[in-house]
Amino acid sequence: MTTASKRYAVIGGGLSGIGAAFALHRAGHTVELLEQDSVLGGRCGFDRLGGRPIMLGGKNIGRRYHELRGFIAASGERVYEPFGINSSQIVNGELVTLDNPGIAGFLRHLLRTGSPIDAARMLYYGARVRFDERNRYLGSDYFGKAGADGDSVALGAHFGAEFGRTVLRPLTVRLNAAEPDEVYLGAFGVSLGMVQDRYDQLVDGMQPVLDWFAGQVPVRLGTRVDRIVARDGRVVGLDLAENGGATSFSAYDGIVVATPAHAAAGLLEPVVPALSKALSEVAYYPSTVAVVQYEQPFFGSAVRSIAFDSGPCSAAGVYGVNDLDIVRYTFSGRGARPSPDARLLARWIDDAEAKVRGHLGGPAIERVRTETRSWAAAHCAYVPDHAGFRTVVREQTESVAGLQLAGDYVLGAQLEACYRSGVAAARALVA
Ligand SMILES: Cc1cc2nc3c(=O)[nH]c(=O)nc-3n(C[C@H](O)[C@H](O)[C@H](O)COP(=O)(O)OP(=O)(O)OC[C@H]3O[C@@H](n4cnc5c(N)ncnc54)[C@H](O)[C@@H]3O)c2cc1C
Repeated sequence: MTTASKRYAVIGGGLSGIGAAFALHRAGHTVELLEQDSVLGGRCGFDRLGGRPIMLGGKNIGRRYHELRGFIAASGERVYEPFGINSSQIVNGELVTLDNPGIAGFLRHLLRTGSPIDAARMLYYGARVRFDERNRYLGSDYFGKAGADGDSVALGAHFGAEFGRTVLRPLTVRLNAAEPDEVYLGAFGVSLGMVQDRYDQLVDGMQPVLDWFAGQVPVRLGTRVDRIVARDGRVVGLDLAENGGATSFSAYDGIVVATPAHAAAGLLEPVVPALSKALSEVAYYPSTVAVVQYEQPFFGSAVRSIAFDSGPCSAAGVYGVNDLDIVRYTFSGRGARPSPDARLLARWIDDAEAKVRGHLGGPAIERVRTETRSWAAAHCAYVPDHAGFRTVVREQTESVAGLQLAGDYVLGAQLEACYRSGVAAARALVA
């Protein structure tokens, strides 16, 4: 069979799977994207707030997200608006504004919150990321070695306790939904790369881009993959269940598994048990997001978001620079586990709202509407010694012809890294 007549499948319709399917399609291959949900986008979390499309998950697009921006541009002219990752933080009960502090201001902040040794170490790692693009992604030589040497203890143990609480924790809770004692130095470059970027969001959200994509590439929504079928060391097809119906076999010559590691582990267990075991060790932590529309602007333009150092709410901020009346509350970290039921979440939102008003001042503002979403496994916190993990994953994946993996655990959880992991998996599949 020639390469051109082969039939490929991509499992998972998040940004990783979309990257893989688009790359295969662009290269002229026959590909289907299989997604169990009724919508594409995965943890971008598409929803509506009243009539307005919103994203309850990943939505902010870094200026360095070059490949993802290329994909978005291919879909037509799209308008971005700027969005800062953070503007203010509560440190020991005080509101500290961090937007554009400049290097001197940032240094002062680091020194105020820890020892000079901690500050110097942080600046050193930051410089490795700033001056070498590869260190923004998992798999770089520098952080691979740092992880192999230093991941016998968690990231927090490499720094003093005060620095961990006031500098590391806001990062890890926000980017991994994890505490500093639950993440590792070997993956720290990804977090530093994310905080060094500047962010925009699409004015109309990502939905129109994915609608365009679904017009280009065959997408089967409501299609759950139950089993990967392999014979004689090669993938031959998938057992699929469409819209909750009975399972049936579909033949494919190659597949990209573009799901979170825990879902990939389940699918791969009967085919490559050692690969499944490695994938099942990737850590994920829960997060809950509430987007609330108020009767009038809730934040002002001076402070647009606040990161909290305690309690279930890790951050509250405007949905967009032109949406000061819409607030996105994020509940993550140890104080927000397990995921709340509706009653508890209502209390968390009340408390977070009161806390924000307490810091901003001014009277209470009526809510108009609220949308929420909880993910039991929202954010990837990776594995210790990611370089060692990669070696196992590569060797085990190579043991089955027609199998490639993409996802947030490969290059990092930022949307750009997910998209890139999909493109790389597609290229490897047809190489
Ligand atoms: C609250 C939140 C905020 C975030 N904010 C940002 C941000 O602002 N910027 C940023 O860069 N990143 C952000 N991220 C991270 C980013 O959104 C995720 O890392 C990324 O969306 C993951 O994409 P993915 O395709 O790897 O996985 P997913 O989006 O989870 O997609 C995997 C898909 O596979 C499907 N699937 C699983 N199993 C099967 C099966 N057996 N059969 C068929 N389909 C299956 C799932 O339904 C899902 O749609 C955020 C994440 C969260 C949770």
